Amino acid sequence: MLDSLKILYTRDQIAEQVRRLGSEINRDYAGREILLVCVLKGSFLFFADLVRTLTCPVVVDFVRLASYGCETISSGVVEMRKDLEFSVTDRDVVIVEDIVDTGYTLQTLYHRLLDRKPRSLKICTLLDKRVDRRVDIEADYIGLALDDGFVVGYGLDYQEKYRELPDLYVLEDAPPVDEERPI
Ligand code: 5GP
Ligand code: MG
Ligand code: MG
Repeated sequence: MLDSLKILYTRDQIAEQVRRLGSEINRDYAGREILLVCVLKGSFLFFADLVRTLTCPVVVDFVRLASYGCETISSGVVEMRKDLEFSVTDRDVVIVEDIVDTGYTLQTLYHRLLDRKPRSLKICTLLDKRVDRRVDIEADYIGLALDDGFVVGYGLDYQEKYRELPDLYVLEDAPPVDEERPI
């Protein structure tokens, strides 16, 4: 059965927000080196676009997380599938996420990195789905706010599909699928 996709934000609207986030980060970190952490896989396109707007020195690194539960709802049990290559100790670190939903994923990553004693630790997310938040975590840099709905495109998937789409869509009538959910 074909999924039904409804346009949510166009590539131009996304690009405008990415430029704004980049200038906020440039303003806050002027002249300082940032360790920019891409949370795979969902944020890979956002990360690639964001990094090209930065004028401060940047080192990039990648983590991969998986949450257990169903395809469209986070369970709260988050496993780190791939750790960072670099130490975060005494560095200015910015986590780059595609979307904060319940907040379980980000909360887990945030506290794991905080345990390693970075100089500073901030969060940048393209999308913020605040109505679903279950834990007390807020991003420092937020691209676009969202109401409810499951979003795909621009790196975000549904069962590994749609990551390649240049615009963001809402997936209508997404049935929850019970399985391990790599993020
Ligand atoms: P959380 O742990 O905050 O509930 O969910 C975080 C992760 O679940 C996100 O980083 C993202 O990978 C995935 N996720 C949450 N909401 C959505 C959504 O609307 N669409 C897609 N494609 N993934 C989502
Ligand atoms: Mg993600
Ligand atoms: Mg996913």
